[in-house]
Amino acid sequence: MADYKAPVKDMQFILENISRMPQLAQLATFEDATPDMISAILEEAGRVSAEVIAPTNVVGDEQGVKLENGTVKIPDGFAQAYQQYAEGGWGSLQFDPEYGGQGLPYSLSTSVMEMWQSANMSWGLCPLLSQGAVEALYLNGSDELKNAYLPNMVSGEWTGTMNLTEPGAGSDLSVIRSKAVPEGDHYLISGQKIFITWGDHEMADNIIHLVLARLPDAPAGVRGISLFLVPKFLVSENGELGERNDVEVASLEHKLGIHASATCVMAFGENAGAVGYLIGQEGKGLACMFTMMNNARLAVGLQGVAISERAYQQALWYAGDRTQGKAVGFKEEGPILRHADIRRMLMTMKSFTEAGRALAYDACGSLDFAHALEDKELAGKEKARAAYLTPIVKGWCTEVAQEVTSLGVQIHGGMGFIEETGAAQHFRDARILPIYEGTNSIQALDLVGRKTLSDNGVAAESVMEEISVALAQASESARFKEAAGKMQSALDVAKSVTAQLLSESADNEYFSGAVAYNYMMMMGTLCGGWQLLRSGVAAEDKQAQGDSDPYLEAKQLTALFYVDQVLPRYLSYSAVVTTGSDSIMAFTDEHLEAAFS
Ligand SMILES: Cc1cc2nc3c(=O)[nH]c(=O)nc-3n(C[C@H](O)[C@H](O)[C@H](O)COP(=O)(O)OP(=O)(O)OC[C@H]3O[C@@H](n4cnc5c(N)ncnc54)[C@H](O)[C@@H]3O)c2cc1C
Repeated sequence: MADYKAPVKDMQFILENISRMPQLAQLATFEDATPDMISAILEEAGRVSAEVIAPTNVVGDEQGVKLENGTVKIPDGFAQAYQQYAEGGWGSLQFDPEYGGQGLPYSLSTSVMEMWQSANMSWGLCPLLSQGAVEALYLNGSDELKNAYLPNMVSGEWTGTMNLTEPGAGSDLSVIRSKAVPEGDHYLISGQKIFITWGDHEMADNIIHLVLARLPDAPAGVRGISLFLVPKFLVSENGELGERNDVEVASLEHKLGIHASATCVMAFGENAGAVGYLIGQEGKGLACMFTMMNNARLAVGLQGVAISERAYQQALWYAGDRTQGKAVGFKEEGPILRHADIRRMLMTMKSFTEAGRALAYDACGSLDFAHALEDKELAGKEKARAAYLTPIVKGWCTEVAQEVTSLGVQIHGGMGFIEETGAAQHFRDARILPIYEGTNSIQALDLVGRKTLSDNGVAAESVMEEISVALAQASESARFKEAAGKMQSALDVAKSVTAQLLSESADNEYFSGAVAYNYMMMMGTLCGGWQLLRSGVAAEDKQAQGDSDPYLEAKQLTALFYVDQVLPRYLSYSAVVTTGSDSIMAFTDEHLEAAFS
């Protein structure tokens, strides 16, 4: 089985050339983000992820988590890995120094987060959700709450969770039933939440649950939902941990993958009521939670990249190790890596992974600019850009992770289906990604609805304009001219399909829902090509300046491969969008059951 090695060179290249780190470091907010600082952080995080966290991945999958006497028992090595993570200050990189953070760019912390997710996705979910909880509290909480909770959450001494889902409320959170009854300076929370990631564990001293619930007199629907902070252990005024709050793990789910992540059914207020504190205003809970969910959606897209990277490294190692047959052009038997079809699969894995990485980091870079730019108009544009790219990062990167991890299994032949190589674990673990943090159906609907139809296509047009500029630049290079031409054809189709989306959705209420998935995949395929072409051109420039690192040649070949072998998929996605909704909506419930009724 291959060890994990963080792709530090690629991360650094993308931060520098795609997510605009050098320009970011010129802004006062991020002046500490110097190349030396970034390099030191990535190298050290790479070491910790490879030496401390990655070795817990297989053992975690084998041992899983167990509920014993109401407490979640975690696999061997998890607590020690978490301790090193917290002591290293890894959870605080991007947060406000006022609460103990290091004030570094989010895009930098994103590359570090990718390493934790590649090393062990089950374990990595704990920091991932904690960081989302910090963000939600930081942006929406009162000073009193922030002072009481943020320092320990930023330092990693306490972890955070997100409690949205209930048995009757999954994709549709407007029907949440958990209750919050005002009592003095707090509320008493009761109700059941399901599927709560790391709802309990012994890695940290306290767990801070962010819980959506409804006040007794709240209106029905989304406007009646508020957000509450519910600590596992109550915290006294002087910051000491006190009594256990009325929140318990009722049971743990048995899952297809991420066996080592505790997915808990949580019972709030079974006795006196769980003490909770309002975050933000009453009735604005979903909006507050969205600050966490947006962060988490980008992070889940990043998990798609991370698990793809891990699967690629495993497949590459196996393809170099396994000898089978004589490849064309060779006289003797050799590694399967020599076969053209294995190379096709490896290159597909690699190009999807690097395209997704560039796209995810680029979106996070926009959030950094939105935060640091003084010019409000420019900051607003960066925010809108990140918002537009978010469902593509979440939806497309996690969809392609299914293909990448499946190819990883395929490259192993029969051994891919056998657990001991680890390829199967990546495939199983990846399967959750299109489901949680809003299923990919919901991401696709977000992209076509809120992000495209609602603003009459302005955000889409702006991203497509950026792609045009990148293509103009790429076409000046002899090496990328033809690829830029192919991308131009894809861009032209995307523009006309977007125009069709805008016009047909006005007349046909079924249109946008029926085409959303294929539209998202078309935009993802196009954006992947955009990012790889930008990367290829930047690599060519560096090469022209005398840098002979083979990584730069590989980067260019990866871009050319993607444009030739992956980009043409936009044709089938766009063709499906243009056929509209009729063939889907013609099917009634009766037709679905016709063969066996
Ligand atoms: C391992 C795991 C960890 C999780 N962690 C957390 C967590 O930490 N906190 C938390 O709150 N939740 C968590 N979840 C819950 C997760 O976010 C939900 O499972 C997800 O949002 C989908 O909700 P659901 O399961 O109720 O599916 P449903 O909403 O019942 O959806 C079923 C199917 O219908 C589709 N569908 C539903 N509505 C629409 C629509 N309007 N248009 C088109 N298609 C639609 C969905 O896309 C899906 O394919 C986790 C789930 C799992 C499995």
